[in-house]
Amino acid sequence: MSAITMRALTKVYPNGVRALDALDLEITDGEFFALLGPSGCGKTTLLRTIAGLELASGGSVHIGDRAVTQLPPGKRDVAMVFQDYALFPHMTVRENIAYPLRIKKVDRRARGEKAAETADELGLSALLDRRPGQLSGGQQQRVALARAMACHPQVFLLDEPLSNLDARLRLEARTFLKRLQRELGVTTVFVTHDQAEALALADRIAVMEGGRIRQVGTPTEVFRRPANTFVAGFIGSTPMNLVDAEVRDGRLVVAGAPLPVPDDTPVTDGEKLVYGVRPEYLDYTAEAAPDALHGQVVVVENLGSFSLVSLDLTGDGDAATIQVVVPEGREPQPGDSGWVMPRPGRSLLYRDGE
Ligand code: ADP
Ligand code: MG
Repeated sequence: MSAITMRALTKVYPNGVRALDALDLEITDGEFFALLGPSGCGKTTLLRTIAGLELASGGSVHIGDRAVTQLPPGKRDVAMVFQDYALFPHMTVRENIAYPLRIKKVDRRARGEKAAETADELGLSALLDRRPGQLSGGQQQRVALARAMACHPQVFLLDEPLSNLDARLRLEARTFLKRLQRELGVTTVFVTHDQAEALALADRIAVMEGGRIRQVGTPTEVFRRPANTFVAGFIGSTPMNLVDAEVRDGRLVVAGAPLPVPDDTPVTDGEKLVYGVRPEYLDYTAEAAPDALHGQVVVVENLGSFSLVSLDLTGDGDAATIQVVVPEGREPQPGDSGWVMPRPGRSLLYRDGE
C-alpha cells in the first residue's frame, strides 16, 4: 500500500497534444480514488503515466517515498486493468492470472497455487481451464482483476473497469469492486466518465478538464459544493441549474425576482454572478410564495419515482429556464404557472471564470 503524489505532472504527446498540464494531485494510502471527466480530458494518460506506460514530459510521480518518474512499468509495483481487459486469448484463465508471476520468474507450482487462490477470492474457480472467449463480459473483467491482484501490487490502476458491462451487470460489478477494494485496502485509482459511478464508489474524486484538475473532494463535497460551474454542470444525475444573477440592494436578482443572498458569500451591489441550485434542492408549489421564482411549466419528464419539471422563468430579467425535481403524484402540467423555492443553504454563487 502506498500514497501517490504527482507534482506539476505534464505530458505532451509527440503530436503536440498537451494531455496533462502541470497537474498536482495527492492520493492517500489505501484510498479508493476516482478520476472523473469528459472524454479526452487526460484520464487514461494520467493512469498510464502513473503506471510508467507513458513517460512524463515534466514534473514527478512518487509512489510512497519512491520517485518513480523515470522507472519502467515493471519496477513501479503497480497493476493496471485496461478498459478492454487485454486478456491473452490463447491462454486459459489460470495462465492469464499467473502471467505476471511468470514474468516475475515465480516457479511453476507457486504460480499455479497463487492463481487458484486468487481465482477463488474472485469466484472464478470453476473457470480456471477456460479461455477468455468462453467467458461473459463480467467474468472476463474478474479475470483481469485477478491478474492484477495476483502479484499483490502497491497500487491498482483501473481504466473504466465497468464501461464494457451492460447496465445491470455494471451495478453488480460496482458493488463487487467496492467490497474487494475495502477488503484488500490497496490504493486504487479508477477512471470513469460516469459521475454516478464515481459518486457511488470513491472515497474521493478528482474532476478533470483539459489535462488539469478542476476539483478534488469527497463525493459529498463535489456534489454539494462544486468549486466551479464546470464541476457543477458535470456532477449530478440532472445538471445543476446555472442562471445569471445580479446583486441589487443586498438581494440576489434572478430573472427579475429577488432572492436572499446565500449565507456565506460576500457580494457587492451591482455585481453580476451565476446563481447555482440543483433541481433536487428546489421545491415546486402552485401557490405564490416569498423568496421564490415564478415560471411557466414547459416540460414534465416522468423519471419513475419523481419528475423533472422545466419552467421558463417569467420575471422581467433575461429569459431563463430552471429545472426542479417534483415527487411522484405532485407533478404540474405543461402550461401551468408555478413557483420554485430554493431550500435554505443549498444555493451557490459563481463568479466569472470559476
Ligand atoms: P481520456 O482517457 O480522458 O478520454 P486520454 O488521456 O485518452 O483522455 O487523451 C487525452 C488527450 O490526449 C486527447 O486529446 C487525446 O486525443 C490525446 N492522446 C491520447 N493518447 C495519445 C497518443 N498516444 N498520441 C497523441 N495524442 C494522444
Ligand atoms: Mg480514456
